[in-house]
Order: sequence, then C-alpha cells, then structure tokens
Amino acid sequence: MTSPVNVRYLSGFTGGDGTLLLRRDGATLLSDGRFTLQIEEECSELNDVYIRSGNETMATAVAHVFGKSKSGRLGVEAESLTLAESERLAEKLPKTTIVPTKDVVETFRQIKDKSEIDAIRKAIDVAAAAFADSRLILHRDHTEIEFRNEIEYRMRLHGAEDKSFSTIIAAGPRAALPHAVPTSQRIDGQPMLLVDWGAAVNGYMSDLTRVIVFSPTKKLRTVYETVLKAQLAAIAAIKPGKTGAEIDAVARNVIKDAGFGKHFNHGLGHSIGLQVHESPRLRCDHSTVLKPGMVLTVEPGIYLKDWGGVRIEDDVLVTKTGCEVLSRQVPKHFGS
Ligand code: ZN
Ligand code: ZN
Repeated sequence: MTSPVNVRYLSGFTGGDGTLLLRRDGATLLSDGRFTLQIEEECSELNDVYIRSGNETMATAVAHVFGKSKSGRLGVEAESLTLAESERLAEKLPKTTIVPTKDVVETFRQIKDKSEIDAIRKAIDVAAAAFADSRLILHRDHTEIEFRNEIEYRMRLHGAEDKSFSTIIAAGPRAALPHAVPTSQRIDGQPMLLVDWGAAVNGYMSDLTRVIVFSPTKKLRTVYETVLKAQLAAIAAIKPGKTGAEIDAVARNVIKDAGFGKHFNHGLGHSIGLQVHESPRLRCDHSTVLKPGMVLTVEPGIYLKDWGGVRIEDDVLVTKTGCEVLSRQVPKHFGS
C-alpha cells in the first residue's frame, strides 16, 4: 500500500513516509528513521517494521523485504503509485509481476466500524459547536475571509485537529458558485451567506452546509424550501438496498418539479471518512448498493447566476432500517 490514507487505515501510522507490504502471513511497514518513534507509538500491533537507511530508496527497501517472500506477484495501488516509482520497482524486481490494483482497501473503508462512527460524530459535534459560536459574533462588517477564519479557529478551539477541507464562505451572488473561494467581499447587504465547513477529529471528517438568511425575500424562501424538501425526501429514502443513483433521483425530481432542474448541477452526496470525498457516492452514475455502516452527505443545491445559491448538507449514517442524521443539532429551517 502506498496511499497514505490506506496505510493509516490498516496500520494506524499517520506519518509522511510509509509503505505497507501485505502478505498472507503478516504485514511489514516500511519507513525511514524520522518516524521510528512515531511508529512505536502508533502501530503497537504491527508485527514487522523496516526502517530504511539514508541512502536506500523505497523501491530498494520494498525489493529487499519482498525478495524474502516466495511470491512472484506484487500488487500495487494504481491510484497512488507514480509511474516513476512503478518503473523503479520493476527494475529492482525483474522476476516479479507487478499487478496494478484499485479500490481494494477503499472497499473495506466504505463500511465504518463503531470507533470510526464515533470519530465522525465528534467531528460533526466540533463543527456544529464552532458554527453556533461563529454565528453569535457574525456581523455585517465581516468579509467572507474573516468569517472563514472565525469558523476555522473555533473548530480548533472545540477540539478539531484541522479543518476537513478549505471552508467555503459565499455571500450573495457568490453563493451561485458551488465551490466558491472566500474573498474580501463584505457580507454587508447580501441576502444570504452560504457556509460549507467541516472538522477533522482522529483523522475522520465532517462536512456540513448551511445558508444564513439575512433578507427573507419570497424568491429566497421558495429556493430554500425547495432544497430543504429535496434533502428531506432523499434522507427519508435512504436505506440498505437502495443505490446511490436512486437516492440522487429522489432529490433531483423534487428540484426538477419545482422548475429548478438545470440549476442543481452536482451529485447529491458522497461518503465521508478518513477523506472528505469517498465512495460510494449519491450520484446518477453510481450503482453501489447502500449498506449499514456507510456514512454519506446529502447536499442538494440550487444555484442561480447573478443572484446566489442555496445548498443544505447533512451527514447521515445508513442503519439497518434507514438512516440516522448525525448532524441534526444544526438547525436548518428557513431563517434559522
Ligand atoms: Zn460540504
Ligand atoms: Zn460535501
């Protein structure tokens, strides 16, 4: 394994230089001298660690450890191993067949166990508390960048080790950009403020979106209520056995029926875990069947050029009979 997230998932190692070699009879973590103590702390259950010397490349180290096994085939992670690294490995292991693999560990990561769900719950609690605090000090002189700084600072105050992605703060017409980057524009005078934020706790991510309404116009209410109706319908439809495409269609139909179909221009949701965007997704081209233990976002939106946008995003856990909304403590009724 060469993907840092997959190495962390399987071994617990969070350092910057780790390759995990899995065999039928065990696993070896390869790293360098900077991480010896960290590996001792984080990977007490690992039965074999190989610390390479200063002049040894990772390919040489892998060849050294792998050369002891009798296998003639070495699976590599096609999504994370670079072409140059793959060539170096092939040079060092001329008699070995290197087999590219995809989604081997990612498939296991789709179903979260109790400790993973607990970490996601904490990441949501921290994000929710930071948002509630930030709303209390929000004033119209704030720029988008200043409000972003307030939320990210407060997530850390509440116990986040980091933000889970670059926070999106978009006032008025900038909310029409689903992935707006905060600017020095003042919030003053804008009808709405879209906030998409999340915290990381023990490596696990939360991902939420709310729209703060300053001027409750009729149009804003119509758009907001349509997005909320679409989101609630999708959440009500989530249960084991449904596909991501089926759930996406539920929300999309509500928005289409209200006349905003072409203004919902992204998928309905994605899984969260050690990464903020994981599989499976709630999207028209995703046929993966939902199973208990999956944690997904549900985030329909309507975006109108030169006016603004509304997206409402919650994190849900698929249960045996349906789903549990993990972020229900963050209010989402119009004007909340
Ligand atoms: Zn988000
Ligand atoms: Zn999201």
